[in-house]
Amino acid sequence: MRLRPIQIATLFRIPIRVSYGWIPVVVLHVYAVSVFYLPRHLHGFHPLAYWALGGITTLLLFLSVLGHEVGHALVARAEGLRISDITLHLFGGLARFEHEAHTPGAEFRIAVAGPSASFLYAVAFFLLNQVSIHLFDSRPAALITNYLALSNLILALFNLLPGFPLDGGRIFRAWLWARWGDYWRASRWAIGVGQGIAYLLIGLGIVWVLRARTSADIFAGAWSILIGIFLRDVTETSRLSLARVEQMRRIRVADVMTAPPALLPPEMTIEEVVSRVLPAHRSRTFPVSRDRRLHGILLVPSLHALPRERWAQTTVREVMWPVSPAMFVHPETSLWDAHRVLRGNGLGASAVLDAEGYIVGYLTLEDLRPEAPPS
Ligand SMILES: [Zn+2]
Repeated sequence: MRLRPIQIATLFRIPIRVSYGWIPVVVLHVYAVSVFYLPRHLHGFHPLAYWALGGITTLLLFLSVLGHEVGHALVARAEGLRISDITLHLFGGLARFEHEAHTPGAEFRIAVAGPSASFLYAVAFFLLNQVSIHLFDSRPAALITNYLALSNLILALFNLLPGFPLDGGRIFRAWLWARWGDYWRASRWAIGVGQGIAYLLIGLGIVWVLRARTSADIFAGAWSILIGIFLRDVTETSRLSLARVEQMRRIRVADVMTAPPALLPPEMTIEEVVSRVLPAHRSRTFPVSRDRRLHGILLVPSLHALPRERWAQTTVREVMWPVSPAMFVHPETSLWDAHRVLRGNGLGASAVLDAEGYIVGYLTLEDLRPEAPPS
């Protein structure tokens, strides 16, 4: 079972969620800063003071990570994308959108917004650091701001590595996409580089651990290995779904469409549908047509709203979804494009019309399930 992330806040109308994996990282970070980092550089404070400072540092660090994602999200919104949510997880954060950017330019601007925000925070914490040192002569404040300036700088630089799904990988993909005009080929390359970076991080981590002199080395090495494994998993998932999409783009609707379950005449009553059509055909939807011309689609679950005593007087025409462009595809349409139509039209089904507009087949989301996932 996968635990769903919990929503903790809403920012700029964006739900902010945290995954359960994020909680041990927060605890570990507070611990590492309070017990190791601060006492090493700051002497003579009460133990509780270290914990309080560790807590503040951790809070500011995660606000920095959140700020990075908010950077992506706000630019994405300006580019016309709808934002699903921002999730903080074990390895950082993720802003999710309901669809991908439509142009290389938009993808570039959205991708570059996160590292730019992190650079900005790094500069802000550096300035605060200078103020803490020269104006207030506060060693704790200087230490914390120094730590946060460095962390944000690392966050920006790490995310600029040119492998998908990192921001740098998205920038790289946008660049290839603009050059080649081929989103899919650009994606393949960016994912490939992402896989290379994942293995590099794993290898680097192993060397780091093997040659470790301090516990901090072991920790850094193990962290590098973990991030490498995480990136490898993400790139592998991206690679598989890309392969699936490419497979769907090669197959045409004509290759998978079926015969319509039954063509219902518009003047048929619901009484007849329930007594004669439904027992014979197991389908959620039925095309409504006369002379093989599409008039609409009947969604069976929507009949529940109709009281039984009205079944005899109500015709299919009155309760069907009247025909619209999202209700049909052509035999030559790719499965990928058809999939988007079917997922977006609220019916999960569409008629297949030939060039003259006659119904030649029918397609449901069930027909589009791949037989076997590509491997
Ligand atoms: Zn980012």
